[in-house]
Amino acid sequence: MGDLDSSRFVSRRALGVDASGIRKVFDLAAKLKDPINLSIGLPDFDVPEPAKLVAYEAIRRGENRYTQTQGIAPLRDRLRADLSKEFGTDVGEVLITSGVSGGLMLAMLAVLDPGDEVLFQDPYFVMYRHLLTMVSGVSKPVDSYPDFRFHADRVEAQITPRSKVLILNSPANPTGVVLTQDDVNAAVAMAKKHDLLLISDEIYEPFLFNRTPGTSLISPYPAYEKTVVVRGFSKSHAMTGWRVGYAFGYEPVVSQMTKLQQYTFVCAPSPFQYAALAALDQDMSRHVEDYRVKRDLVIGMLSPKFEIVRPEGAFYVFPKVPAGMTATEFCMKAVERGVLIIPGNVFSSRDTHFRISYATTNDKLKKGCEILLEIAGV
Ligand code: PMP
Repeated sequence: MGDLDSSRFVSRRALGVDASGIRKVFDLAAKLKDPINLSIGLPDFDVPEPAKLVAYEAIRRGENRYTQTQGIAPLRDRLRADLSKEFGTDVGEVLITSGVSGGLMLAMLAVLDPGDEVLFQDPYFVMYRHLLTMVSGVSKPVDSYPDFRFHADRVEAQITPRSKVLILNSPANPTGVVLTQDDVNAAVAMAKKHDLLLISDEIYEPFLFNRTPGTSLISPYPAYEKTVVVRGFSKSHAMTGWRVGYAFGYEPVVSQMTKLQQYTFVCAPSPFQYAALAALDQDMSRHVEDYRVKRDLVIGMLSPKFEIVRPEGAFYVFPKVPAGMTATEFCMKAVERGVLIIPGNVFSSRDTHFRISYATTNDKLKKGCEILLEIAGV
């Protein structure tokens, strides 16, 4: 069937989502035999064994049906208890979502009317923009170069009467930058002043290299009552395919999200909710230590030749390409040499940086960095 026949069935919403940037890298990657893949946004370890066993057992026991929309009670209760301890106050009901993506989608659907604006730092997690297109919201990326911190003056300059939400993502994808308490205070002050809902995407919260015990990103909770926090198990326990995340915070929004989940995702996958509960008992700290070592390896190799903001979390670095090249050109050269990295314009209005995911073996990291240095003409 030709385009003419099918175009009637392709919505403006679907057309508005442009996934070409990242697809180009993956199409090229598919042709490579043994690439050094530094483009993947997920951990290189596997789900902890005890959580796998609980998943099998749950399936065999018959936990294969719908759960309550808000999630199984033991997982909700456990998270509520753990989070309330972490934040030093009762965080209220926790909604189990189909990954953090599911939580973000529900939050947008719950809060935004068509044309409402959402502010977030540029560079940003690429899904924010696409989700907003899908829900007829308006993306307001706020330039955060070159330090990727929260720039209150720039955020304020973008605020209009339609501004409704400010998304914070710390540690951040694609930069690995962790907001300081001053950044968070400035964001909260901005949200208060303009009556914005804060959505705090904390999916990389377990991967913090300078954690001071008991401090969280938005602390003391609730620094601002109108905050919804989304977190999940995809990165912390390498369960990206199991689709379990959670949301908590501002009750009027979380309760609308729960209602909307009933008619969209229905519930997070049942057996994996049990597995997630078991995963909470696993100590994942050695992986965080491994990633700190990998971070140091990449920074050590690249920082003499690339401008890099030292990441304090997640498993990404976002170096600037050498002068005279766009990031896309640089990444194409890297792909030709078998190294997969993602050009900045996938996450940003600028095409000056590239994202490395260092969630891979030290050997591959070293080889990859050597090749990147060669391309930079070192
Ligand atoms: N937020 C950020 C910043 C991410 O990087 C990701 C995954 N790449 C997600 C949310 C979504 O994670 P998931 O849906 O697997 O929980």
